Amino acid sequence: MKFIVTTAIIFIHSLANAQKVPKAVFVIVDGIPADVIEKIATPSLDSIAAKGGYTRAHVGGEKGGYSQTPTISAVGYNSLLTGTWVNKHNVWDNDIAAPDYHYATIFRLFSEQYPDKKTAIFSSWEDNRTKLAGDGMAATGNLRISYRYDGLELDTVKFPHDPLKEYMHRIDLAVVDTACATIRTFAPDLSWVYLEYTDDMGHMYGDHEKFYDAVRMIDAQMSALWAAIQYREQNFNEDWVIYITTDHGRTAESGKGHGGQSDRERSTWIVTDDDSLNQVFRSGNAGIVDIMPSLASHLNVNIPHDKLEEIDGVRLNGPVSAYAPTSTYSNGRISLGWTVADKKGRVRIRITTTNNFKQGGKDEYRLMKTVPVKDGRATIDVTRMPSTFYKIVMEFPLNTLNRWVDNRATAN
Ligand SMILES: [Zn+2]
Repeated sequence: MKFIVTTAIIFIHSLANAQKVPKAVFVIVDGIPADVIEKIATPSLDSIAAKGGYTRAHVGGEKGGYSQTPTISAVGYNSLLTGTWVNKHNVWDNDIAAPDYHYATIFRLFSEQYPDKKTAIFSSWEDNRTKLAGDGMAATGNLRISYRYDGLELDTVKFPHDPLKEYMHRIDLAVVDTACATIRTFAPDLSWVYLEYTDDMGHMYGDHEKFYDAVRMIDAQMSALWAAIQYREQNFNEDWVIYITTDHGRTAESGKGHGGQSDRERSTWIVTDDDSLNQVFRSGNAGIVDIMPSLASHLNVNIPHDKLEEIDGVRLNGPVSAYAPTSTYSNGRISLGWTVADKKGRVRIRITTTNNFKQGGKDEYRLMKTVPVKDGRATIDVTRMPSTFYKIVMEFPLNTLNRWVDNRATAN
């Protein structure tokens, strides 16, 4: 009897949650290494993390591997938006010269499935919307961001550019104020808030009280955003989630630079109120690419099969079978590995030697093997499909992982 009652309560609870409208906000605060966010008192971030969690995380892809990714701002933002590293999304620096829009952003996936739902970008840098999200571009299927507040950095009358960059703090404040007001009134279903001032102080002063002050300002701004979300949850039938992260750390010597692959430049963090965090989050090695599938999961976005097979991130919420895939190639054999999160079932391993997806085409995968998830590894004989390039998809019962073997650069 006790069992039946408990089951009924769980059922009613999940029914109530199912009826709530899911909403998501993600925030990028620029250039704050993990050691700094841990050193400075951030009571607002702490209270958000108390509902979900705080973890150290990383940017930069696989150091020395095929997905190694510069620890540069726009590169990191696009890794978050697309759930892929730079070898796929192709944004190598802040020029954003040629993004590969075949790797769809969370905005595009969400809008294509839910054309009537509302999206928002509140940003201290206009390129985030116009170039990365690709608002209004044919290449993004004419994506339209419903609520936009950005481009203030181009208004030198209202925000004259002083040499100490205090104008960027004023822009951040205007961006956060507008985000809070819009969330309270219109409750966009998916919002991105981007704030820049911390990075400016980092570049200018490095590891210095002035940079730490900027981090304290961010914490106060997150307090306002958190209050707006709580207002919605208390007064409307909505289930909100917020993910807050940074796009890169800083150099160890002075704290002024970034872009390279040192530990401190790669070292980031994630704060969230998500109440369904899983082992991937708790592993302490989440990547910035993991946030996109987490948002998709919360918003009930069904990612189309071919796009799902390209996503490098693993969701940080809900159940998954495996994460942290590895691959090595030697003499016609590919050795694969993964960390087991749920050992039930088998993994289907499929391989292709083409990358037509990059041009918007299709790849024909060959099923090579199925092995128990709990094995944690598999070896695939590819001597009968010789190539300098392999894409491997591992279909687990609860999630999908992928890896490349890329010997094209070293091949003659
Ligand atoms: Zn940055």
